[in-house]
Amino acid sequence: MKINAVEDDRVHVLNNNCNVWSVIREIADTGTQEDAFYVCDIGDIVNKHKIWKSAFPRVEPHYAVKCNDSLTVLEVLAALGTGFDCASKAEINKVLDLGVNSNRIIFANPAKPISHIRHAADVGVNTMTFDNEIELHKVKSVFPDAKMVIRIRCDAKVAQCQLGMKFGCDPDNEAPQLLRLAQQLGIDVVGVSFHVGSGCGEPGVFRRAIAQSRKLFDYAATLGYHFNLLDLGGGYPGGQGTSIIEIAEIINAALEDYFPDPSVHIIAEPGRFYVASAYTLACNIHSIRGVATKDLVTEAPSTHYMYYINDGVYGSFNCILYDHQQVVGQPLKDYPHSKLHSSSIWGPTCDGLDQVVAETLLPELHVGDWLIFEDMGAYTLPVASPFNGFPIPKVHVVANENVWILLKDILPLTENHFVIGTTAASLAKTMNIDRDAEWILPSLPITISLP
Ligand code: PLP
Repeated sequence: MKINAVEDDRVHVLNNNCNVWSVIREIADTGTQEDAFYVCDIGDIVNKHKIWKSAFPRVEPHYAVKCNDSLTVLEVLAALGTGFDCASKAEINKVLDLGVNSNRIIFANPAKPISHIRHAADVGVNTMTFDNEIELHKVKSVFPDAKMVIRIRCDAKVAQCQLGMKFGCDPDNEAPQLLRLAQQLGIDVVGVSFHVGSGCGEPGVFRRAIAQSRKLFDYAATLGYHFNLLDLGGGYPGGQGTSIIEIAEIINAALEDYFPDPSVHIIAEPGRFYVASAYTLACNIHSIRGVATKDLVTEAPSTHYMYYINDGVYGSFNCILYDHQQVVGQPLKDYPHSKLHSSSIWGPTCDGLDQVVAETLLPELHVGDWLIFEDMGAYTLPVASPFNGFPIPKVHVVANENVWILLKDILPLTENHFVIGTTAASLAKTMNIDRDAEWILPSLPITISLP
């Protein structure tokens, strides 16, 4: 298996008494771990796939690689049988290198460099999106046999990241013109796609978009096309406490009303849904500044605490700037009955922009304490940079026994990649932690007898 530089090359198999927080606690308690680190629970990804399959019996997920291109994530999803949405030549290669068949990939970028289109032709990735005339001419010149999917615009009224200002043609005016041009050029258009916006906050938008797609299927038929692909794009939430049930009910009902014909192939491009909650980030407080202030209610003198941690907006928390995420830092250590103080959390670089949380209430914390950030799997690591010399956090991948038993036969990993029968010492060693001789890890060691 090829391993991402920031990723541990092992899957640590945990017994069922362990969870992500207990793993973080064990690592932090070594006293020798200082750098920020992630724990990725692949069981969470497997569970998301189960939820998807039961919520959307008709919709085949094509995971949006851009969201988190970790090899572990891609391998798990490939093993579970999802398709993939790739935006570039490099993403296509990454997925193909796993042994995924090219017909499980949609090249879902409506504005592609010509060399990338040529590459798609060379490797047999035939299905790709477009939303403008020039793209059709480019495809005509380098990949005339491509199966094109027209991307229309239909924006959710509320979304974490709107995409419609950049992609998607107007379905009523531009789309029919583009289909007529495609027909003149002899290009095969096979269906319609849309993306309502990432982190969609208006589930009803999916019904509007599906209804618009139906109109275009019907119009295309008048031109002699026989569309057979509907791509529902992304927009599905994935953080802890979120649910796709409401969106699924709306989509399933709209599919029944507008696309009852089971021969129409329905796909979607979820990214955030699959990975957001699988990644938990642990950051260490290395500096603290107390600033004299006044209590907002009583006006009595008080202190605002500024906590400086070792990951920030140039690293994982780029998601605050680019993905409009709101993150919550939870102390790893319990401070029962402690007074809560006005606090802010800052990244490690010298830039004033490097603020992670502007205002929150926390007990008084200390240098060396850890802050834990859940739901950090989407649009974090692929964008992170080591600006100012602060390293991108390493990822430790864990799975519980049940998940390991499920995956061990279908993942393209060798048995060596699973750390089984792990002892505290070997776990610490594989995680590159200098372990104190006294350190014991009562809950982690498990023994699975291999057949
Ligand atoms: N498909 C395309 C074309 C996208 O641009 C994106 C995100 O930007 C996605 C899918 C993933 O959507 P989401 O972030 O809602 O999971």
